[in-house]
Amino acid sequence: MKQEDGAKIGQSFVTIIIYTIAMQPFVERLPLNDQSLNRRAVDVLQVNMGRYCNLACIHCHVESGPTRTEMMSRETVDAVLRFLAGTEIPTLDITGGAPELHRDFDYLVESARKINRHVMDRCNLTVIFEPGKDYLPEFFKRNEVELVCSLPFILKKMSTNSAARKLLIQAFERCNV
Ligand code: SF4
Repeated sequence: MKQEDGAKIGQSFVTIIIYTIAMQPFVERLPLNDQSLNRRAVDVLQVNMGRYCNLACIHCHVESGPTRTEMMSRETVDAVLRFLAGTEIPTLDITGGAPELHRDFDYLVESARKINRHVMDRCNLTVIFEPGKDYLPEFFKRNEVELVCSLPFILKKMSTNSAARKLLIQAFERCNV
């Protein structure tokens, strides 16, 4: 047998082993990683209020922006609240778009707090500089809203947009009330 034939057979053998491992049923692989398929209680109800946003980031995976008009109706907001009240799900996680620009954002947050649910808001921070939205830092504080935000890149010299970086830092300062 030629040396290169031997190498090809060796490669095929490795491929077969990899294929066999890859084809191992999922349920059998889980215990190997100390995992199981047991269902747990739901910890978080995530609600997307709509696609409208004051920004239009090129990386946005839901293609939100100022021209998007899809927004959750009040009826759906109420249906979410009814559903939440009928469960023991401890956390409501609100996202968008920029959910704070939805007309029922405050209503949703306050209603969820009234039934003792923790509220998370996925906030782009710049929204607090939008007209009429400067009350938001106090609103977040009053309702103990947990903000989930993106940080500007850690190295100033590698930040692509210094104006945006400055704005985000100002927003952090404003929200750190
Ligand atoms: S701030 Fe968030 S929701 Fe808005 S466009 Fe950027 S990534 Fe999308």
